Amino acid sequence: GVDTLPPGIKRAAHQAPADSYLFYQAHGTRPFIDRAEGIWMHGQDGKTYMDAASGAMVCNVGHSNPRVLKAMREQMERATFAYRLQFQSEAAEGLAAEIVDLMPAGLDRVFFVSGGSEAVESCLKFARQYMIATGQGTRYKVISRHPSYHGSTLGALAVTGYTPLSAPFDPMMRPMPKIATPRHYLDGGTEDEDAYALRHADMLEEAILREGPDTVMAFIVEPVGGASTGAVVPGAPYHARIREICDKYGILLIHDEVMTGVGRTGAFLASEHWKVVPDLIAMSKGFAAGYAPLGAMIAPSRMVAKVLDAGGYAHGHTYAGNPIACAAGRAVVREVVERDLSANARIMGARQMAGLRALKEEFPFIGDVRGLGLLQAVEFVADRETMRVLPPELNAAARLVEIAYEKGLIVYFRRTRGGQSGDHIMVTPPLTITDKEVDTLLERLRDSLVALRKELAG
Ligand code: PLP
Repeated sequence: GVDTLPPGIKRAAHQAPADSYLFYQAHGTRPFIDRAEGIWMHGQDGKTYMDAASGAMVCNVGHSNPRVLKAMREQMERATFAYRLQFQSEAAEGLAAEIVDLMPAGLDRVFFVSGGSEAVESCLKFARQYMIATGQGTRYKVISRHPSYHGSTLGALAVTGYTPLSAPFDPMMRPMPKIATPRHYLDGGTEDEDAYALRHADMLEEAILREGPDTVMAFIVEPVGGASTGAVVPGAPYHARIREICDKYGILLIHDEVMTGVGRTGAFLASEHWKVVPDLIAMSKGFAAGYAPLGAMIAPSRMVAKVLDAGGYAHGHTYAGNPIACAAGRAVVREVVERDLSANARIMGARQMAGLRALKEEFPFIGDVRGLGLLQAVEFVADRETMRVLPPELNAAARLVEIAYEKGLIVYFRRTRGGQSGDHIMVTPPLTITDKEVDTLLERLRDSLVALRKELAG
C-alpha cells in the first residue's frame, strides 16, 4: 500500500496526463516495483504481475537471472568502468568475440553502444562514412518503411516511419524517403500473399529510381515488425527481393534487429529464418536483456577497414563497451545459446499462438493474431471482413492493457496516436517462459478480453 512508498512521494489522486510517466518526480499511476524474478514482477502494492511484455521486449532471459547477476557482480567487484583509450576490457573483448561467432559469416566487427537508437545512429553514420571512403560521397539517403520504428534520436527518427513522433522535428532533420510496410491482413488480405509481399519489395526499387540511385546509400528494415506494425512478418520472398534490389544498386542493407535479435523470434537473428545476410546489423534490447544498457552495430571488417583507412570512424559514446554492460551481455548471450532459448521461443511461441488463435475464434473484435517466435501481436478491429478499426475513442488496445494490468498481466501496446498503425497489443513474454506459464498468460488474457467485451458492449 501507500505506506511502503519512499518518503516524500505521494501517489497522485488524479489520472496522470499523457506521457507524464516519462518524467520523474512524477504523478505516476503505476505501483512502485519491489522485486522481480523469472517472468514475475512484484509491486509494492502487494500484487504479483506476469511480465508478458518483457518490459518492452527486453527481458529475454527473465528477471533476476542468477548467472547474469553473478557475472555483473564479479565484474563490478573488479572494475566498473574502463575507458577504451586507456584500457581494454575482458568483458567487452569477450562479448565481441562471442557475438561475432553467432553472426552470419563476414559480419565480424562489433561497435558497442548503450541502446537501440544509438545502434541505429551508428549504422547510419557508418554507412555514410563508408560511402565517402569508397568515393560515393553523393550517396546519403536512407530509405525506410512506413510504419516503422528505429529510435528516438534525430538520425534514427528521420528513418522512423511514424509521423506523430517525427513531424514536430521535421525542420531539424533531412527528410528520408519511405516505402510502405507490407501489412497483408490490414490491407485487405485478399491478394496472394507472396505477390503482395513482392509488390511491396519492388517499391524499394521504385523509390531508388525516383530518388536517383547515386543519392541513396542504404535501406533500413525491421526483419519482423515491432510495436509500430504489431509483429508483421514478411516472409522469405520479400527479404530475398529486398537483398537483390540493394545489391543491384550498391545500396547497403541494414537490419534493425534491436527488438528481433537474441532469440526473440525463435532464431538468434530473425534474418536466419530467411537466410538473408545484411551489410550492417543494429542490436540492443535483448542483448543485455534489461540488466544494463547495451547495444551494438555489427559490421564486416572489409567495410570497417575502408572507413578506418579513409581517416577513421567519426563516431562514439563515452559508455561504449562499459564493462558491467558487456559482462551482462556476455552472460545473457551464453544463457540464450546454452539453454537454447531460441528453441524455447519457437516451442512456447507455437503454444501461445495456438492459444491466441482460439481467442480470435471466441472474440469477434480480434481481427488478426500474428508473429514469429515470442514476438506476437493481437489486432483489434470493428469488423473482420473489412478490417475497419474500432472507433479510436474506445482505445481498445489501451483499455485491454489497463484491464490486464489490473488482473496481473502485463502486455505491451504503443499508443496509436492517430490510429496510423491499427490497434494492437504485443504479447512478448521472456524466452524462458514455461508451458504452464503460457497457459496462465492465456487464461489471464482471456479474462481480460471478457472484461473488454463487456465494456465494448456498453
Ligand atoms: N529499433 C527498434 C526496432 C526498436 O524497437 C527500438 C525501440 O523500441 C529502437 C530501435 C530504439 O531503441 P532504444 O529505445 O533503446 O533507443
